[in-house]
Amino acid sequence: MSGFLSERARTLPYSGIREVFDLAGTMDGVIHLEIGEPDFSTPPSIVAASFRAVAAGMTHYTSSAGVPELRGRIAEGLTSELGIAFDPAEVVVTAGGMEALLLAMLITVDPGDEVIVPSPAWPNYEAHVLLCGGTIKRLRLEESQGFRLDPMALRNAISEKTKALILNSPHNPPGSVLDDERLEAVANLARDRDLLVFADEAYACLTFEGRPFRSIASLAGMKDRTVIVRTFSKSHAMTGWRVGYLVAPRTLAERAARLHEHTSACASSVSQAAALAAFDVPAETTGKMVREYESRRDLLVRGLESVPGLRVSKPEGAIYLFVAVDAFGIPALELTKRLLLEQRVAVAPGTAFGPDGEGYIRLCFANSRENLQEAVRRMDVFFSSIDRAPL
Ligand code: PMP
Repeated sequence: MSGFLSERARTLPYSGIREVFDLAGTMDGVIHLEIGEPDFSTPPSIVAASFRAVAAGMTHYTSSAGVPELRGRIAEGLTSELGIAFDPAEVVVTAGGMEALLLAMLITVDPGDEVIVPSPAWPNYEAHVLLCGGTIKRLRLEESQGFRLDPMALRNAISEKTKALILNSPHNPPGSVLDDERLEAVANLARDRDLLVFADEAYACLTFEGRPFRSIASLAGMKDRTVIVRTFSKSHAMTGWRVGYLVAPRTLAERAARLHEHTSACASSVSQAAALAAFDVPAETTGKMVREYESRRDLLVRGLESVPGLRVSKPEGAIYLFVAVDAFGIPALELTKRLLLEQRVAVAPGTAFGPDGEGYIRLCFANSRENLQEAVRRMDVFFSSIDRAPL
């Protein structure tokens, strides 16, 4: 019956991470480092707030843009963080950052519009551009530049058809964070060339060594041309609650809310009540989580640095390690499958993040120290057993 499938459905890429995940699901004793899933539990005060909401009958539709109190807290939080005023009318609460990003693109990208997408990157960006009928313009992030976006390369990638660019900092997969100088240069280009910026700040709360996070929307003139996307998924270990938001200039936010009405009506009422409680979680609780991730990062970096043939870059944020395996001359997906079958360690092939991810694997370090230590041991055995034969 595949004749019924639309062109869109037929051509939508299949996630390379799922391929590994599905294979790993058929096996026992696997250490799962392939998916970006925090191993912390959602803080109990958030869980309790959701129970209270259900008991109080908050089990109905909400406004498409989200419950006013939550939109208010989001706007208030951004106002104090960025030092510029945000209005609740600029906020739309969504089913995770993922839906926020899709809505943002659907209301701005027309067929034929080019969207500049960093590469390697979270695969959903490209899928979303394709769903909108837009054209993907890949901007390669170089390991030699710490996988940070190069403003010169960005300048060269912009054409008459370019409408928007995606900025993800901290960046998934390599965990790179844009420094102020690059951020200013990107903002200058966006202003000069009249571009919209989709600022995916899913990992804004997850930077290491006390490095401050800076949103591009805080730079002069940028608020009017930025859609901020954030989520509670990683900041409060709430991936399954499916709650995030976009913050955009009022006209865009209104359109996004209108479109939301036609997709899922609104974000889950219970999850919105939970997200509201996330604002009252003490900074110390989230700070502790970040410090724990940081020490797990260090454990994994130290361990893998001593495995011959691997090249490890230390991430400045997010929860992933992007490791170069090009010395072995084996395609990343094949290497990933062999590592899983031979040593029961599941990691994501770099190619799941686009063709520029060839030669790399991604490991999520949101896992217990014991599991990470054991993964290092198994990877040492695995990689020591392969001849190095770079392509
Ligand atoms: N952006 C990036 C870069 C991500 O890695 C993710 C989740 N893995 C998201 C956005 C969206 O997360 P969610 O939909 O769970 O909020």
